[in-house]
Amino acid sequence: MKVFVSRLIPETGLQLLKQAGLQATVWSEDRKITQPELIAHAKKHDALLCMGSDKMDAHFLNECRHLKVVGQFSVGYDNVDVAEATRLGIPFGNTPDVLSDATADVAFLLMLAASRKAFYMHKRIISGEWGPYRPTTNLGVELKNKTLGIFGLGRIGLELARRCQGAYNMKIIYHNRRHNVQAEQELQARKVSFEELLQQSDVLSVHVALSPETEGKFNAEVFRKMKPSSIFINTARGRIHQEQDLIQALNEGWIWGAGLDVTNPEPMQPGNPLLSMPSVAVLPHIGSATVQARNEMARLAATNIIAGLHGKPLPHCINPEIYQNDTST
Ligand code: NAP
Repeated sequence: MKVFVSRLIPETGLQLLKQAGLQATVWSEDRKITQPELIAHAKKHDALLCMGSDKMDAHFLNECRHLKVVGQFSVGYDNVDVAEATRLGIPFGNTPDVLSDATADVAFLLMLAASRKAFYMHKRIISGEWGPYRPTTNLGVELKNKTLGIFGLGRIGLELARRCQGAYNMKIIYHNRRHNVQAEQELQARKVSFEELLQQSDVLSVHVALSPETEGKFNAEVFRKMKPSSIFINTARGRIHQEQDLIQALNEGWIWGAGLDVTNPEPMQPGNPLLSMPSVAVLPHIGSATVQARNEMARLAATNIIAGLHGKPLPHCINPEIYQNDTST
């Protein structure tokens, strides 16, 4: 059986596919495959190993309803019409857990970088502006004993909370739809309303999935309710914040700083005002970009594909209800 892989992934995953007797074709160009190209390739294969940037909408899924399984190389699946995949009987896999440490590290890095204006100060060296010692300029803020607020405390949020509590004794508050019992027991995390999260957080870090409820959630009205001394971090999805409103919030002093691994839109353009603000740190969506995380993502994605092609339940499935449907037909 044949698998199409829409971007080069670490060898670990490709080897697993090969050892399972599958023939893998990898998209060879160094650009994102277009949807018509992806459809054309997928039509000639039994399974697809795709990226989170590939649009898995109703059109794609209906064109490729022959696929026995799709394994995505990411944990987030806001690019997928899950209901349609389920309706068509296509099992769909993702890669949770294995990138939580790497992504939490990036959130922590951005928090520190913003708090000490690190990226801005680095750029000043490059532009020859090291300057004389000035005791009152370019001062950052300290994080010890501050309050970390997490919007969407799940796998990645828990790892960030552990880091912040361990390093800075930060108090953890969070807003989810349900209680995160593990975080409450282990870190004395406290579930609060969204309004309280905005009012009490010194650092507010977003780890929620992008969905109709969370899209554009951080707008001018929301930023206005945050502490003027607070730092906003987003390593989840750029479309959860409204970027023009974030720029305004920083310019007007509604919040103090920001750290972004995800932007709205992506890629961020070089002239974006956020890139020249002192207490802002921006990275180009590198949350899971470690050797360890990417190897494990490749392994999980391949494992999902192999299970699906053998007619077994996927180890990490975003539409497990598909198996209930199976037995009833
Ligand atoms: P997760 O374990 O599912 O955690 C997400 C948390 O958000 C859950 O605990 C969930 O709790 C909460 N939540 C969901 N919808 C909500 C809503 N409407 N209001 C309030 N809380 C809500 O996911 P994860 O593995 O931590 O990953 C989180 C996200 O990070 C992914 O979806 C992905 O978009 C992003 N990500 C980015 C990178 C990167 O490269 N920057 C890498 C990996 C992941 P309840 O169900 O109780 O509400």
